[in-house]
Amino acid sequence: MTDLPLPPSFRQLGHSAIAVSPLAWGMWRLAEHGRSVADAARLVHAALEAGINFLDTADIYGFDGKGGFGSAELLLGQVLAAEPALRERIVLATKGGILPPLPYDQSADYLRKAIDDSLIRLKVDRIDLWQIHRPDILAHPQETARVLDDAVASGKVRALGISNFTQGQIAALAHFLGEKLATSQPEISPLRIASLDNGELDQAMMLGLTPMAWSPLGGGRLAAPETARDKAVTTALDVVAQSQGVSRTVAAYAWLMAHPAGIVPIVGSQQPERIAEAAQALKVRWTRQGWYAVLAAARGEPLP
Ligand code: NAP
Repeated sequence: MTDLPLPPSFRQLGHSAIAVSPLAWGMWRLAEHGRSVADAARLVHAALEAGINFLDTADIYGFDGKGGFGSAELLLGQVLAAEPALRERIVLATKGGILPPLPYDQSADYLRKAIDDSLIRLKVDRIDLWQIHRPDILAHPQETARVLDDAVASGKVRALGISNFTQGQIAALAHFLGEKLATSQPEISPLRIASLDNGELDQAMMLGLTPMAWSPLGGGRLAAPETARDKAVTTALDVVAQSQGVSRTVAAYAWLMAHPAGIVPIVGSQQPERIAEAAQALKVRWTRQGWYAVLAAARGEPLP
C-alpha cells in the first residue's frame, strides 16, 4: 500500500506570492446566532492557534440573519479594528457578486462598488484574495477582467479568484485577465466529488489555480449521514480515521488535501475546539487503497 504525501505546512496561492496554510477557515456561518465581536475574535484566534492563517468570508454572508448583507464582513472588520496586529497575521479572502434579489451582478460599476464596500466593512485598505462568488452570465468576461485587473493595479486587491464557475467561464475570464487567477472555489467533499471527475481540478492544475473546497464536510452531513450512500462514505472514512486515531471529519479534510491539485478545505465550523481539531488533518496519511475506497463509496459503485 503506497502512502500518499502529507500536505506541506504552507501552500502558494496559485501563481501569487501569497503563502497560506493548507486549511482555511470560513465565515459563512459566523453571523448566525447573534455572535458578538468577542465571539468572532475567539474564533479568529482559534484558527490562528490551529495554524490556519487563511480566512474566507463574503459580502453576502449574514444576509439571511438579523444583520443582513455584509454583516459577517462587518463583524470581522470590528475584530480587526479592535486588534490591528491581526491583519498582518491573516490572509484575508472575501467575495462579491451575489446581490439578492437580482441574483448576480458582475457589471463593472457594481464590482467596483462591491470591492470598495468590502474594504470599508472589513476596515482594511487591502484584500488579499477577492473572488467572484457566482458567475453572472450577463456579464462579458472582458469587462469583468478589466475591473479585476484595475483592482489589483490600484493595490486594493492582491490576488483574484472565482467560485462556482464552469471550466468554460474560468477559461474565458483567464483569457481576458492581465493578472493570473490564483484560486477557484468549488464545492468539494467526500460527498460531493463532481470536480474530481469533471475536469475542474485538472483545469486548476493546468492553470496553476489553488482550489479551495467549500462545504468540505458536506455542510455537516458527514458528521450525521442519512442515506445509504452517505453512510458508505463515512464507513470508508472511519476505517482510516480509526487506524490513525483521528475523527472522521479530520480524515475527510486529509482526504481532500491528499489530492494532487493541492485542495485547501475551508473549515466551516464555528466552534473553537472543532477548528483546533482540524489541524490534526496535516498528520493523517492516506494510502492509495484507502483513498480510492472513499471515492468508490462516493460513486456508489466499484471502480472499473
Ligand atoms: P462544512 O465543514 O462542510 O460544514 C460545517 C457545518 O458542519 C457547521 O454547521 C458545523 O457545525 C457542522 N458540523 C457538524 N459536526 C461537525 C464536526 N464534527 N466538525 C466540524 N463541523 C461540524 O463547511 P460549510 O460551513 O458548509 O462551508 C465552509 C466554508 O465554505 C464557508 O464558511 C464558506 O467560507 C465557504 N462556502 C463557500 C460557498 C461558495 O459558494 N463559494 C458556499 C458555501 C460555503 P458547528 O459550527 O457547530 O461546528
